[in-house]
Amino acid sequence: MGKRDYYEVLGVSKNATKEEIKKAYRQKALKYHPDKNPGDKEAENKFKEAAEAYEVLRDDDKRSRYDRYGHAGLGGQNGFGGAGMTMEDIFASFGDIFGDAFGGFGSFGGFGGGRTRQRVNRGSNLRVKVKLNLKEIAKGTEKKIKVTKYISCPSCGGTGAADSNSYSTCSTCNGSGQVTRITNTLLGQMQSTSICPTCGGEGKIITKKCNNCYGEGIVKDQEIIKINIPAGVAKGMQMTISGKGNAARRGGVPGDLLVIMDEEEHPELYREGKDLIYNLYISVPEAILGTNVEIPTVESKVKIKIEPGTQPGKILRLRGKGLPEVNGYGRGDLLVNVNVWIPKKITGEEQKIIEKMINSQSFTPQPGKDDRGFFERMKSYFE
Ligand SMILES: [Zn+2]
Ligand SMILES: [Zn+2]
Repeated sequence: MGKRDYYEVLGVSKNATKEEIKKAYRQKALKYHPDKNPGDKEAENKFKEAAEAYEVLRDDDKRSRYDRYGHAGLGGQNGFGGAGMTMEDIFASFGDIFGDAFGGFGSFGGFGGGRTRQRVNRGSNLRVKVKLNLKEIAKGTEKKIKVTKYISCPSCGGTGAADSNSYSTCSTCNGSGQVTRITNTLLGQMQSTSICPTCGGEGKIITKKCNNCYGEGIVKDQEIIKINIPAGVAKGMQMTISGKGNAARRGGVPGDLLVIMDEEEHPELYREGKDLIYNLYISVPEAILGTNVEIPTVESKVKIKIEPGTQPGKILRLRGKGLPEVNGYGRGDLLVNVNVWIPKKITGEEQKIIEKMINSQSFTPQPGKDDRGFFERMKSYFE
């Protein structure tokens, strides 16, 4: 289906000013306004066509592209694409152009009579915090949590009515769920339709309320909710479980359950993103002679070798012994930060041994020889 020329649609010349274009659009929009042409599909199409033309011609950039290349110059990027703009979009973008003719934008109701939306209740969202230990974070886990929340009333099934005979037709709207208002405007009588304020669009009202929920359709209760938590989550992350929040009044849409992650501190391992850090302490003789030590990991323990002559501050990297990435790609490392324990109190005998060492050639510090130095260590930590 070929598109009509935008200037032709609005009935303006190629060199029309912005003001002329706006004026022309306003005229077309009022002429084909859905409230004035209820149920008229052709008027609706003309209304949309005019909005599309206006959307392009009021914009200098789009207009010049259109002038040079025609419809193809807009490449479907003019906000309408091929799919067209909905009536709601048009009102949202250009509603103000109608000024007071329709009592302002807020007053526009349904189109063509049959499309008035029923008001939908939505339940509120609930927030819960879930505390996880490192093991659970490393593997992912299923948590069952007890949530106190509004559920749909089991007695009335959420309707709020005592039984199916407890209704009467709404007298405000006579059961249609909408009210039509006639207003006199410059353009003659205008009809606007909106949701019935008495019944909220339901068309009926409850005469006898459910005595379990007092007509609300919801009651407070506790529910056990299973939550599958993926591996690699971190403190503060949030998961949304849709539809598990509070039920809505009288059969609306339930809210969501927002699960916020919290972490239990591990007694020995510190977390740094996906890496874990372990502070290892060895004795002076162990640093000199080398040793084998056990390092805790999330799962169990691993043995590692400390080479003779290991300097304090050395960081050993155990690849893949950290935590998985939450997106499932890759895994962090376990960084073993080697500290050498310097005793503060020693016995007289120990003192004598150490005094002998102090003048020994081997015990004279030689910085820069084996020690990679502070910056090197920092680099290895952050790499
Ligand atoms: Zn009930
Ligand atoms: Zn009503």
